[in-house]
Amino acid sequence: MKNLRPGEFLSGISRAVAHIVWPRVCLVCGALGVDVCASCLASLAEMSTRFCVSCGGAFPCAAHADGMSCVAFSLYRGVNRDVIHAMKYSNGRRIALMMGRLMAGSIPRPDADFLVPVPLHGGSEREYNQAGLIARGASEVWGMPVRDVLMWRAGSTSQARKKKALLRNLPDDAIIARRSVSSGARVFLVDDVLTTGGTMRAARGAMERSGLSVAGSMVWSKSAS
Ligand SMILES: [Zn+2]
Ligand SMILES: [Zn+2]
Repeated sequence: MKNLRPGEFLSGISRAVAHIVWPRVCLVCGALGVDVCASCLASLAEMSTRFCVSCGGAFPCAAHADGMSCVAFSLYRGVNRDVIHAMKYSNGRRIALMMGRLMAGSIPRPDADFLVPVPLHGGSEREYNQAGLIARGASEVWGMPVRDVLMWRAGSTSQARKKKALLRNLPDDAIIARRSVSSGARVFLVDDVLTTGGTMRAARGAMERSGLSVAGSMVWSKSAS
């Protein structure tokens, strides 16, 4: 049997104990005791592409002169989908914070006064808003406060149950501002995944109706189609 140095032996034991007590493995490389390693998460951030939220094309966009820019860091596909699912549904608060730090470290600090996460739907039973945690991670890097001021208007049905076509045509007032926020301020919107862009446009609409301007937005992932 190979002689292990005491440090190797102990770290082997602590990994084994971690696995028994907390049987998690990195979804990317299989390392024990974590949902995803920091380096594996970084490897999923394959891009930092700025696009037009209205059409998905390049930004600035000739077709949407008043369009909003969004930066996405990955495509919603492959193992990244599993990581996003774990982040949303499997107590993945730590993954969301790591994503936020990684995203903010990859692009210049936006010219904004605060970060605003896209809200969890009112009917959601989830314990935490992953977009809020991503914003908090980014806030640590940029030194920019987070204001959780948006909410879904009562009566809109759960986003997950909506058909893609419905999401694309969300009414402009599907999201509203929870309380008065400093009019004239500039905000930067944050969400985990962008599919049709309808939710992000509704969030922007809520901010602008409250007298704020939107400097842009970012998401961890955009849908691959
Ligand atoms: Zn890993
Ligand atoms: Zn466009």
